[in-house]
Amino acid sequence: MSNLTFTMIKPDAVEKNYIGGILKMINDAGFRIHAMKFTQLSKEAAGKFYEVHKERPFYGELVDYMSSGPIVAAVLIKENAVADFRTLIGATDPTKAAEGTIRKIYAQSIAANAVHGSDSDENAGIEASFFFSSLERF
Ligand code: UDP
Ligand code: MG
Repeated sequence: MSNLTFTMIKPDAVEKNYIGGILKMINDAGFRIHAMKFTQLSKEAAGKFYEVHKERPFYGELVDYMSSGPIVAAVLIKENAVADFRTLIGATDPTKAAEGTIRKIYAQSIAANAVHGSDSDENAGIEASFFFSSLERF
């Protein structure tokens, strides 16, 4: 069990000015910031980040959407970080997300669903390294 997970506040949530509200929920749930940046993905970078979904029907739209505006990328620390963060964000489809979860409160749709959260310790490590050098992690 690792104590790190990776998240992004996605373009829809940045556009709607939800950064502060989402970060407050993350901090209130006991996560600490290990690394953080405000940036925008190129199409190429978004395509690489979501390469595991290349064969899925929504891949093209996902890449377009994730490169459409700035995002907040962060690495978070907490015991049981990956699983606890997935619980905090809720189901991929906000209509199926539990009450009180970030996606239930802030997401627009299954595509524009406000936040990303790693799905395994291995992917959390890969995703954190995709965005942050060792000099940017504290
Ligand atoms: N997605 C989508 N349509 C779908 C499923 C997923 O547009 O039917 C998007 C959505 O933004 C989601 C991302 O693709 O967050 C990655 O999908 P995944 O199944 O990994 O969901 P997550 O792990 O983000 O809950
Ligand atoms: Mg996923």
